[in-house]
Amino acid sequence: MPHEHHDHPHSLLPPEPELRVKALETILVEKGLVDPEALQLIIDTYQHKIGPQIGARLVARAWADARFKDRLLNDTDTVLDEAELAGRQGEHVVVVENTADTHNLVVCTLCSCYPWPLLGIPPGWYKSDNYRRRAVREPRAVLAEFGLTLPETTRIRVWDSTAEIRYLVLPQCPEQATNLSEDELAQWVTRDSMIGAGLPICPADSNMQIEG
Ligand code: FE
Repeated sequence: MPHEHHDHPHSLLPPEPELRVKALETILVEKGLVDPEALQLIIDTYQHKIGPQIGARLVARAWADARFKDRLLNDTDTVLDEAELAGRQGEHVVVVENTADTHNLVVCTLCSCYPWPLLGIPPGWYKSDNYRRRAVREPRAVLAEFGLTLPETTRIRVWDSTAEIRYLVLPQCPEQATNLSEDELAQWVTRDSMIGAGLPICPADSNMQIEG
């Protein structure tokens, strides 16, 4: 069910937010209120250090360790606190588990709310009007465009993110991957599989895709 976004902070964004942010940044730096190097460090962190590999490690551990999986699903905030992955857009993460008969897909219909500490910067398509508009209305068609055609019998649940709640999909562990180590399992977990727009991929196959 799509959430109402009346109190969504992004709905207060003015037109041309990039220009306004740049103007604000210039004033803050000129007045000595913001250190440009500190700002660059934050940007660099999200561009290069925080990425889907963080979420992938959680998924891999959940696949390998049933007790951890149970905690990740049912006591998510505590698990993320312990891993120092809470806050900065990561608060109140809800983990939704794909099962044999249910597939989960995440969207933010109003803007682009996303679990940054777990997945890094959202991909362009996640923020696109097209995806935001259609993910709720015709998820099956959207998934097919990602190359993911699910059986008609699979139920698709769409989760609309808000400023308060971010979602992470816990994909199913592929049969061929069972019994692998946590490190190996993590290689199978793609960013898109944690949004629900894809499934885990055998690392050998994903390398071939990149080369091809
Ligand atoms: Fe949003």
